[in-house]
This record gives sequence, C-alpha cells and structure tokens, in this order.
Amino acid sequence: MRESSTFEPAHLTGTKDAYGRELNDQGFAEIDEERLEHAVREFLLAIGENPDREGLKETPARVARATEELLSGMWEEPKAHLRKQFEAPDSDELVVVRDIPFESFCEHHILPFRGTAAVVYLPKHGRICGLSKLGRLVQGYAHRLQVQERLTAQIADALMEELDPEGALVILSAEHSCMTMRGIKSTGSLTVTEAARGVLADDRELRREARELAGAGRSSR
Ligand code: ZN
Repeated sequence: MRESSTFEPAHLTGTKDAYGRELNDQGFAEIDEERLEHAVREFLLAIGENPDREGLKETPARVARATEELLSGMWEEPKAHLRKQFEAPDSDELVVVRDIPFESFCEHHILPFRGTAAVVYLPKHGRICGLSKLGRLVQGYAHRLQVQERLTAQIADALMEELDPEGALVILSAEHSCMTMRGIKSTGSLTVTEAARGVLADDRELRREARELAGAGRSSR
C-alpha cells in the first residue's frame, strides 16, 4: 500500500524581517541560491583556496544544491504529518517508536549531528497517528540548523499540539561531528536529550516505563 503524503509546505506570511526578506510561517526566509554560491566562493577564498581551480569550480553550486536538500525542513511544516489521525478505541497503552534515524546540523558549527530518536506517547480517547509519520516529524525538524535540545522539544511540542495525547516523551541520542572531528575529538560519545510532556512529565512511574520501552536504558546515564 502506498503511503499517502502528509507533506505540507511552509507558507509565506507577508511579514518581513530586519533584512527585508519575507518570512514563512516557520520563521524562515527563502533560500537565496545566488547569495549562497557567492558566500561559498568567499569561504574558499577566505581559507586560502583557489576557487577557480578545476576541483573547486563547481563547488559553490554543488554546496548550494546540497544545502537546499539538507535544510529542506525550513520550508515544510513538520507538524502537518500528524494531522492524519485514526480512532483506535482500545489504544490506551503507550505507543513507542524507537531507533528512528535522523541527521541534523548543529547551528554553532554548521556540522552534522546524527543519531536516533525514540518517540513515545499515551493516546487520548484512542486517537493515534500513522507510525511512519513520527519519523517524518522528526526528520522535518531535524533538517534545519538546530541544537539538539530544541529539536527534542519541538518534536514533543508538535505531538502535544497536533495529536493532543495524554502525554509524550521524546529521547534523542546523537553523535556530534563538532565534538568528534574537532576539539576534544571524543569519538563515540553520545549526547542524549529528553523532553517529557503531560502525564509523561508528571507521572514518574509511567515515565520510567516509557524510557525503558524507548531503550533509554541502553545508554549509561
Ligand atoms: Zn557544534
């Protein structure tokens, strides 16, 4: 069965930012390819490279195209993936989807961080969403410049807003290139962040159970 698309592009708001650019409802301006190419060329010059040598000639254009794809989440509304909902009257147990792979970019160094997400929620009145949509939700917010803590919170908040469950718990484990490739070069170290909402924030026993199902016990914390 082919999955129905729940992709919803971000919409322009008519509001301009301090730089005169029109913002979309996610708070971002449109990507300016020409400007980006120019900036990459400047970057190459700034690091002492020759941007006109054979291997680098096409690099600004390539980086611009790649960036558009890697940051595509700035031009979509990730929450929309949760709007296709189902009624399952017997669903009064925790729903857990774990090991959802994601890749994102740390906004401090514009270097990738990648890892897995676990999303847990307790349905209210048997209202659930498609399991694959949770992955799309995660990836939508991940394909932006991020800090892991905010990414975690955005996923949890989107769940609460769109699906209105009794509670939600989101756990992200990721390896940050800015830690493993530079600085302290702590290869293999994982950063784990957690966001709990509703009963999963308030009920310690339920939260413990949710963490266990999410596989949080696997990382030593
Ligand atoms: Zn970083």
